[in-house]
Amino acid sequence: MFPTHRPRRLRKTAPLRRMVRENVLTTSDLIYPLFAVPGTSIAHEVRSMPGVYQLSVDKIVEEAKEVYDLGIPSIILFGIPEDKDVEATGAWHDCGMVQKAATAVKEAVPDLVVIADTCLCEYTSHGHCGYLEVGDLTGRVLNDPTLELLKKTAVSQAKAGADIIAPSGMMDGFVQAIRAGLDEAGFEETPILSYAAKYASAYYGPFRDAADSAPQFGDRRTYQMDPANAREAIREIELDIAEGADMLMVKPALAYMDVIYRVKEATNLPVAAYNVSGEYAMVKAAALNGWIDEQRVVMETLIGFKRAGADLILTYHAKEAARWLQG
Ligand SMILES: [Zn+2]
Repeated sequence: MFPTHRPRRLRKTAPLRRMVRENVLTTSDLIYPLFAVPGTSIAHEVRSMPGVYQLSVDKIVEEAKEVYDLGIPSIILFGIPEDKDVEATGAWHDCGMVQKAATAVKEAVPDLVVIADTCLCEYTSHGHCGYLEVGDLTGRVLNDPTLELLKKTAVSQAKAGADIIAPSGMMDGFVQAIRAGLDEAGFEETPILSYAAKYASAYYGPFRDAADSAPQFGDRRTYQMDPANAREAIREIELDIAEGADMLMVKPALAYMDVIYRVKEATNLPVAAYNVSGEYAMVKAAALNGWIDEQRVVMETLIGFKRAGADLILTYHAKEAARWLQG
């Protein structure tokens, strides 16, 4: 064959490479996560996530405007409540942090798509994603009673103005329960982005600083997926599709590129990848030490998610990536 075939011919110049490029990253692919805390004028940097802040609602609004001006279409909101209890009151209360932030952002920047993370772990006193049996010290969350709380949470988030509901607790049947709750409350046009394949991952470490949501005991392995499993991810997404999910997420992203690929092959629904806190923290730490070229590493990672099949990428690098894309 040599030298008839020379793949280098198409790599010769930048315009040629641009013409045959298979995947493109645009700002439209990006979703920026934000953490809402009580108070005013608060911007508290997360220790393990340089450049990421816990923000009071007034600051969230400022941030939302900046995100929108950068061309990023969407944010996802997490809340850190004043008080935590076993009922996760802060999750479903109309004055919850996500609810307040969603209302304020939609008022200030109506065209920014607001996604509400729908889970209970930031709001329960024990830090698990649902109800526990009294006296349980293992974290074996009670599935079906938790669905009622999730339903209530989703409806109050939709009422507050959230455009998309994103349940993240990996409870069996949570998409169906939330779909039913939204429909009954008149929100049949509010889509559900399901954290369909969410793994029990050490990469969530810094997030738990940011969202103050580390479990007080036990771990999440009875509801989040085993990192060793990929076929099971397909089973999870098939169930969520049957229950009415509109979009599916794989979380984390970097160590799960094969799962993103498999999910994309298995469905025609939009697929999101969550480039999680630990992935962000590792890049930041290496960049701050001068060990890597941050911009090139981030952009390579993000195009990697696209190549694997992600239609949407949730990332703490969203604002930086949007600036770099502008050139
Ligand atoms: Zn949770």
